[in-house]
Amino acid sequence: MYRSHNCGELRATHSNETVTLAGWVQGIRDKGFMVYVDLRDRYGLTQLYFDEEQTPKEILEKAQKLGREFVIQVTGKVQERASKNPNIPTGDIEVLVSELKVLNNSKTPPFTIEDSTDGGDDLRMKYRYLDIRRNPVKNSLIFRHKVAQETRNYLSSEGFIEVETPYLIKSTPEGARDFVVPSRMNEGQFYALPQSPQTFKQLLMVGGMDKYFQIVKCFRDEDLRADRQPEFTQIDCEMAFVEQEDILNTFEGLTRHLLKEINGVDVDKFPRILYDDAMRLYGNDKPDIRFGMQFGELNEVAQHKDFNVFNSAELVVGIAVPGGNSYTRKDIDKLIDWVKRPQVGALGMVYCRCNDDGTFKSSVDKFYDQDDLAKWAEVTGAKAGDLICVLSGNTDKVRAQLSALRMELAERLGLRKPDEFAPLWVMDFPLLEWDEDTERYHAMHHPFTSPKPGQLELLDSKPGEVKANAYDLVLNGNEIGGGSIRIHDKATQAIMLKHLGFSEEEARAQFGFLMDAFEYGAPPHGGIAFGLDRLVAILGGQETIRDFIAFPKNNSGRDVMIDAPAPIDKEQLEELNLKLSL
Ligand code: ASP
Repeated sequence: MYRSHNCGELRATHSNETVTLAGWVQGIRDKGFMVYVDLRDRYGLTQLYFDEEQTPKEILEKAQKLGREFVIQVTGKVQERASKNPNIPTGDIEVLVSELKVLNNSKTPPFTIEDSTDGGDDLRMKYRYLDIRRNPVKNSLIFRHKVAQETRNYLSSEGFIEVETPYLIKSTPEGARDFVVPSRMNEGQFYALPQSPQTFKQLLMVGGMDKYFQIVKCFRDEDLRADRQPEFTQIDCEMAFVEQEDILNTFEGLTRHLLKEINGVDVDKFPRILYDDAMRLYGNDKPDIRFGMQFGELNEVAQHKDFNVFNSAELVVGIAVPGGNSYTRKDIDKLIDWVKRPQVGALGMVYCRCNDDGTFKSSVDKFYDQDDLAKWAEVTGAKAGDLICVLSGNTDKVRAQLSALRMELAERLGLRKPDEFAPLWVMDFPLLEWDEDTERYHAMHHPFTSPKPGQLELLDSKPGEVKANAYDLVLNGNEIGGGSIRIHDKATQAIMLKHLGFSEEEARAQFGFLMDAFEYGAPPHGGIAFGLDRLVAILGGQETIRDFIAFPKNNSGRDVMIDAPAPIDKEQLEELNLKLSL
């Protein structure tokens, strides 16, 4: 038996018991005649005590030679401490050690194993196993486990069955590149790793599984964006014989369950917003609604004067910044510089101060009088003391720019509170999205998403206007889940693939298996997938997902600990019939 108790367990009620503990040396305080050692394991810290009078000499000496992160086993008697530490659960007691065994030595760790460490990101990732010993990382992993567990509890109790789907498959387009795996046994052929189990979960519905879920790895070879991982985890779900409303209710239930069990938060029925309205009011399809600052479109009240910048713009749109009239001229200039940064890309910004006496002072007073500005205030909902910020230009661009400004200002104003949760359904996404690079339409969600009833006919005449039976679940400005009601008949699927630019042969080669399945009694079905990494980070009140992943990749998609990806040797290449042309 290595231990009778763990390091987080002992209390004053255990006094005089003889116990055996094992763990890592967190720190040593050697006063010569007395030695204190903090012993750590996953469960906590326990103080070990040695002194000249009570501890056998050779054990005291052994204790004095311990180093940080040595692995030891001790036996001793629990006693109340002379000076108690109210900050830790075991702070009332210590163990007076009578036996000490060093189970393993340790080199001095390259960074301190403390809650706030001196280790930089790269170092922590290289020695991730040491990083995991730190409370913040350890606790994040435990937190993730709880979220996964509660997810399983909820979905199982709702009748969902967890089914594993294969990782070595054929491409399933979800809008990214595939990671591919060469097949040794099938020369010149490749598997693709799933970007999601989309087609398999649909086939499970054809197979009559009715309600499926899986907590599953997905792989997407995307260009690197901050806080994205090439492999990530989804809570992937599908249901048969459902309409959109059934899916929304079920997964609103899951989200509410998680918020309740994990965060102790009760949330009312989730609000719903149409995609078009989200874009109009927030410039964004994943609006953070923990705060207001909705957009006010100003074309009607700003394009009737001689101000050409506005007159020539497709959209003139503003937001009211609460209390923003307190900004100095310099503050506002900085804000203008901020929106002009290449990452945001605005050409400039017009502003209007809303004074306490009800008057206005704008940067375009030459063109607009008080009555005009009063209308701006009305449209943007600005009150006395606010600042109205106005951007203009191409609709899509200007919405994205103002949305970035809205988020930035809310952050600065402390309106994005991590302990507040504001979920929201965004619905009726466009079915197709124009891609500038390839100059053709792409499925905005994926090619298996069904158009809204009665809109299939529009595909020929106005493809950009067709809406999909697709929905996203947004939490605090992040898309945490997305899904759709699927196409479940061959003819519609064929029309859809044709519009996405697949020839009949291509459609057959890539999706023949699915179209065939649709001919054998495919039930109406739909589903959703949640991004588990992000969901866990948000529930944990954090912005980055990295610490909720045990062994994450860095921003170049590398695992710096095991040093992957890496070349493979010549024999392996030959076996796979691969040649590298350098
Ligand atoms: N497969 C989709 C995704 O990964 C989710 C879904 O439609 O259920 O985003």
